[in-house]
Amino acid sequence: MPSAPIAALKHVTRRYRVPNHGEGAVHAGVRDISANIPAGAFALLKGASGSGKTTLLSLIGGMDRPDSGSLHVAGTILESAADHELDSFRRRKVGFVFQTFNLLPTLSVLENAVLPAILDRRTEARAKDHARNLLTWLGLEHRLHHTPDQLSGGEMQRTAIARALLNDPPLILADEPTGNLDSRSAALVIDLLLALVTDQGRTVIMATHSDQADAVASLVLRLHDGELCGDACPNLSDS
Ligand code: ADP
Ligand code: MG
Repeated sequence: MPSAPIAALKHVTRRYRVPNHGEGAVHAGVRDISANIPAGAFALLKGASGSGKTTLLSLIGGMDRPDSGSLHVAGTILESAADHELDSFRRRKVGFVFQTFNLLPTLSVLENAVLPAILDRRTEARAKDHARNLLTWLGLEHRLHHTPDQLSGGEMQRTAIARALLNDPPLILADEPTGNLDSRSAALVIDLLLALVTDQGRTVIMATHSDQADAVASLVLRLHDGELCGDACPNLSDS
């Protein structure tokens, strides 16, 4: 039986104003995107730089709102949600992983991983236990009290994955998570993201322009100039 979608997108469009091109000049970040992402998918968002991957992930994660179209994600109707509903959606339903890790440089690995609980005003002691368990699962038990500048890129990204998992979200959004990693660390990060799907029943949507995760993806959405291009996509390696 096919799973119900965790993300249902209908005719989603997000336009940006173009500076210095006169009043009303706009440019579509993404245009008329319709897609269903089933719960339990390992979905890839593929496309060249500028094709709209980050724009679409930001919309799915409730970090940005569409100009038109609808996004139903993990039980929330994003285009009509009030700001406080979007806040709680972002804290509870999605975990974000970024290309540049986005760790706070003065905090330790453990403190970085525990941040979402503090933002969510939960008790720090329990959250710390949970973070420690996650970091151990991620192979970082020997790094808990190190700061990001003492870590390798792969270790920084695993710290960011622990932070993304702290509030136990059903959906993980990863924007070029392997873009700053060597190929071995990248392979490990892909294995870990895949384990979130196969062992923990979460859904992962990963934007990438690399082919490294193709073999394990259950769904690939291809973008070109802000639109889903399906079979009509240009060859990525040519772009
Ligand atoms: P990708 O992540 O695939 O590289 P993006 O989603 O970042 O693509 O960008 C898609 C398009 O939208 C690009 O043409 C980009 O220049 C434009 N864009 C993205 N963010 C902004 C912004 N904040 N303001 C104006 N244009 C933007
Ligand atoms: Mg991007």
